[in-house]
Amino acid sequence: MIEKIQCENCGGTDMVQVGRGLFRCESCGTIYHSDITQVVKPQQTYLFTTIIAGTTHVTGIDDLVADLEYGSYLSFRRQEDNEYDKKAILVLDIDGRKLGYVPETENLILSRLMDGGQEAYGVVEDIEKRGNWNRITMDVFAMTGGVRA
Ligand SMILES: [Zn+2]
Repeated sequence: MIEKIQCENCGGTDMVQVGRGLFRCESCGTIYHSDITQVVKPQQTYLFTTIIAGTTHVTGIDDLVADLEYGSYLSFRRQEDNEYDKKAILVLDIDGRKLGYVPETENLILSRLMDGGQEAYGVVEDIEKRGNWNRITMDVFAMTGGVRA
């Protein structure tokens, strides 16, 4: 089971689930990805830094933002049937609650990667309150896989 995983990086055994199939070593922060048969330590490729778009349209966003902090993990979900943008990518917190979107100006490549099966996630870099706007900056990473030896 996942609790038995020992971190290859630091030897720690405290794994915290930070997303669907994503676990983080509490000691050193290394991200692990699990599937049914094996544990995969992905290579985490930094892609770009951006803000979360559309947060002001999310009901209860202030409460959701209150649960975020520097380093919080964010998951992405494609929304191919979005009527305004077929490339839309939802940004969710680790409880699956909608925070907003990857900005339309930056979602072209990422949407294509995700449609091709690439997993990606975000990490909160900064949270700033500007009037009614929660300006959430995130780093976007792709997991390029790699089976544990
Ligand atoms: Zn570790």
